[in-house]
Amino acid sequence: MQPAELLLPAGDLDKLKTAVLFGADAVYAGGKEYSLRAAAGNLSLSEMEEGLNFVHKKGKKLYVTVNILAHNRDLKDLPAYLERLAQMAVDGLIIADPGVIKLALKYAPEIPITVSTQANITNYEAAAFYKELGAQRLVLARELSLDEIITIKEKAEVELEVFVHGAMCVSYSGRCLLSHYMTGRSANTGECAHPCRYQYQLVEEKRPHEYFPIEEDERGSYILNSRDLCLLPHIPQLVQAGIDSFKIEGRMKSALYVAVTASVYRQALEAFCQSGSEYNDKQLRIWMEELRNVATRPFTNGFIEGESPLLQDIDHTAPTRRTDFCGIVRGYDPDRGWLIIEQRANFGPGDDLQLMLTDGRILDLELIVLYDENGITLDRARHPKQLVYVSFPQEIAAGSILRRTSR
Ligand code: SF4
Repeated sequence: MQPAELLLPAGDLDKLKTAVLFGADAVYAGGKEYSLRAAAGNLSLSEMEEGLNFVHKKGKKLYVTVNILAHNRDLKDLPAYLERLAQMAVDGLIIADPGVIKLALKYAPEIPITVSTQANITNYEAAAFYKELGAQRLVLARELSLDEIITIKEKAEVELEVFVHGAMCVSYSGRCLLSHYMTGRSANTGECAHPCRYQYQLVEEKRPHEYFPIEEDERGSYILNSRDLCLLPHIPQLVQAGIDSFKIEGRMKSALYVAVTASVYRQALEAFCQSGSEYNDKQLRIWMEELRNVATRPFTNGFIEGESPLLQDIDHTAPTRRTDFCGIVRGYDPDRGWLIIEQRANFGPGDDLQLMLTDGRILDLELIVLYDENGITLDRARHPKQLVYVSFPQEIAAGSILRRTSR
């Protein structure tokens, strides 16, 4: 069985490279303009070119999100931007707005179009509509059961991309005005401030300074706080349903999140495609534990089995994590037997450290001494992007990730 595409978010160049090194077949990234997740970093045009060169050298793909819900004022400069992306020969455009699709068909006719989840495709007629319009692939709304997905695939006969992992909105596939109303930052232009995770209180209009807590139970209120989606256990059914691309959400998450999710879903896809049998409990437990190691809320399988009673997180409003992203391996000095690590969080001797290798292995790193480039001993790696040197008996691939566990 041919594995379907594994598609990872690329909030910046580091994450793009990490995704590819850890097993993604394709990545999606936004430009500085016209993309949701405006605060996710996103790529300038020159970074986009660098990213494109990197993925193409590895035989992978880069799709560019142009998925704002455009207003009239947004249309003026779009043709030139789309022409530029066409010249660069990006591998696809992810678009939500029918007007933007129309412009893409005109100004970037050679570039395949994927219709974004923001278009809220929930039935096969809508799928057929976008196919006839010229879309090659559709990202379905997340609010669909497996049966509905299978029917859409059978009847519309179009490439389908399905979100399998990441944060969920409490509104319909991200169509939400809450953030714009409360903070002026619109979710529909990629600037959501996540007010669905805030804590709310009740005020009576004649007592403006008296706040009454809203309590569903002793932990407070959680009506708006969605769990995170995780469809790892459903990968076999989704592969059998003929899904073409498995998409992971999280352009604003860290490179550690990208590495962990890419690695786990790569292993799961390969395992099923090679054996054709369901995962055993032990294997599934190991993968789920690894996914819980990075920042996440409790998991839900969303709507895949129909309406789920477990969509809200009743325990936390903030994500929990069991590992910290400490650095990226940039190389190996064979003369001194030192790994070269670029710092991402304060770490040093005494920390419980692990190296995540790009082939999926995880090795413990017992850090006794930390050096700078001149061989002078450091107590900690304190500065962002500081290069530090660590004794290690073997060379490991550049791009591997250093993390601290809280075992
Ligand atoms: S406020 Fe919450 S529900 Fe609304 S778009 Fe943002 S994350 Fe989604």
